[in-house]
Amino acid sequence: MLPVIALVGRPNVGKSTLFNRLTKSRDALVANYAGLTRDRKYGEAEVDGHKLLLVDTGGISGGEEGIDAAMAQQSMQAIEEADIVLFLVDSRDGLTPADQMIAERLRTRSKPTLLVANKVDGVNPDIALAPFYELGIGELFPTTATHGRGVRSLMQRVVEDLPEPAVEEEAEEATGIKIAIVGRPNVGKSTLVNRLLGEDRVVVYDQPGTTRDSVYINYERDEKPYTLIDTAGIRRRKNIKETVEKFSIVKTLQAVEDANVVVLVVDAGEGLVDQDMHLMGSVIQAGRALVVALNKWDGLEADHRDYVKAELERRLRFVEFADVHFISALHGTGVGHLYESIEAAYQSATDKLSTNHLTRILQWAVSEHQPPLVHGHRIKLRYAHAGGQNPPVIVIHGNQTEQVPAHYVRYLEKTFRKALDLHGTPVKIEFRTGS
Ligand code: GDP
Ligand code: GDP
Repeated sequence: MLPVIALVGRPNVGKSTLFNRLTKSRDALVANYAGLTRDRKYGEAEVDGHKLLLVDTGGISGGEEGIDAAMAQQSMQAIEEADIVLFLVDSRDGLTPADQMIAERLRTRSKPTLLVANKVDGVNPDIALAPFYELGIGELFPTTATHGRGVRSLMQRVVEDLPEPAVEEEAEEATGIKIAIVGRPNVGKSTLVNRLLGEDRVVVYDQPGTTRDSVYINYERDEKPYTLIDTAGIRRRKNIKETVEKFSIVKTLQAVEDANVVVLVVDAGEGLVDQDMHLMGSVIQAGRALVVALNKWDGLEADHRDYVKAELERRLRFVEFADVHFISALHGTGVGHLYESIEAAYQSATDKLSTNHLTRILQWAVSEHQPPLVHGHRIKLRYAHAGGQNPPVIVIHGNQTEQVPAHYVRYLEKTFRKALDLHGTPVKIEFRTGS
């Protein structure tokens, strides 16, 4: 499970600065879901080989009332879901009543918390930091987020404090493809999960193991094992109303990370909205195989269907490789066919690729269309080998590989995809200079 680290603190203490530094802001996912009034940012960081999911909570000042209180509530949800909380304070401001209120709230949650005294540049730490010990949070980490000072020791500590990875009991049983069903609230995830499990040829195993709120359901279909990662948590849910409140991006991103294949459920009536695109982006970033299910197709008039299809074509250009299904989870139409795409995507994502084969494709690609010259020297790409599965990673060795332009990387990716007949999975190309 991807560990979750929440950044908490008053506005302006440096949470975003720290977040951007740790995630290199490349894959920040800004979430602005219905029912989540305050923007929270999610991003992946890597520390000493450990992947972490970072959540920037947007800031609580501790004394909110009315709508602000509801927003603070959202931050509290992020705290609930976190494994470790980084509580940031501003060394220049000294201890404020708002800091004390936040500390009070954190105490009632008894979450592992590290106190981060940011902006220590230009203050005398001996004097400036002393008041923060009053918070009783324990060890204090002085940082300068803008320059990265102190950040490394802080993060090393975070990694040390991470909970032991749960013994993979579930994983032992789950020998089949792990399928995550994800999507915005109300698109029909629970209905689809029920439908998938309710099929005649499906045998569902006893009580699913649970991790956080996602439910892992082991089952067999036509004697093939699968594990469904149900982010809607229908087996746990007492009533429909709970869904929206229980919808959690953390849970969704963890399910994506843990899955082999992600089925992204979209409400066809609403079409692809930005939030669907954000989710899709995070599936690609995680390198997971993807199948898109346009649900509630039953409710659409013919001209609306044409419109939705045209819109899809336009917006899904960057995930051309993913199969799209038009389904009705409610009536069961098209649901069985999802498996064909799931199987194909899984196959592609986990194919064994030989060095020989990859190198031949590379050589062919290069002969068809040479890499450009850099400072009068042609970039040389010599051989390729597999560097991982799910997603397939293709490692290419050569000279000046750091100079390969983006358009040429895209060309290579396309060529490999075609030559290897890869469906439904992103492909990652990496370069190494030298042999
Ligand atoms: P957030 O509201 O908690 O996310 O705070 P931001 O990350 O947006 O930072 C607020 C301001 O403080 C920005 O102008 C930052 O450049 C500045 N800042 C953040 N970290 C540091 C630091 O370590 N030292 C100094 N001097 N300024 C900082
Ligand atoms: P979730 O929040 O994504 O789990 O969504 P639910 O499965 O709870 O579905 C939300 C609403 O959409 C419910 O009222 C469902 O009955 C309805 N719904 C789900 N699938 C379909 C479908 O294929 N067609 C139609 N017309 N309604 C659907």
